Amino acid sequence: MITVRRDTTISRISQPLTPIAVDRASQARTFAQHGSLFVERAIEGDFIAAESYLRADSVMRRTFDDLENASTATYVIGNHRNDDHFDFEHRAVTWDPHSALRTTTGGAQSPALGLGHELVHADEAADKREYLATTFDAAYDDKEERRVIVGAETHAARTLGEGTRHDHSGRVFTVDSPTAFA
Ligand SMILES: [Zn+2]
Repeated sequence: MITVRRDTTISRISQPLTPIAVDRASQARTFAQHGSLFVERAIEGDFIAAESYLRADSVMRRTFDDLENASTATYVIGNHRNDDHFDFEHRAVTWDPHSALRTTTGGAQSPALGLGHELVHADEAADKREYLATTFDAAYDDKEERRVIVGAETHAARTLGEGTRHDHSGRVFTVDSPTAFA
């Protein structure tokens, strides 16, 4: 079995783009605005279901509140390739609403928790995230992954009854709904 790491990414320069610029960059996608969060319309229903589910957890609730009230826009763009990551340069979360994760210890996580994980990356000061993301960590690849996984991801997983991780790995599998993990 291939081991997949949710989110391996990319870049450094934080340069907010307008929805129109993201639109051009991502082939004429259209967005629905949730405060400062711009959600691709094609996945808005899945996003709303995931947000509603994640808001049962206090840390995820704070993360959504932060991003929706932020002075900088964050984009959420869908895909069907098991690709969950946060693109620092465009402040864009890429999310597959049907991609669940089997952890290396046999537990499972919903696509919604994958979205929450990426939003926690987005909800971090750029300079601190840059420092942590470039600092190696033997168990979690880097200190930014450790921060997100040990912190918010584990907190939400416990609240929601999902599996927790002790590394940055897992195997993806497909589910019918963004909140399913079996
Ligand atoms: Zn991550």
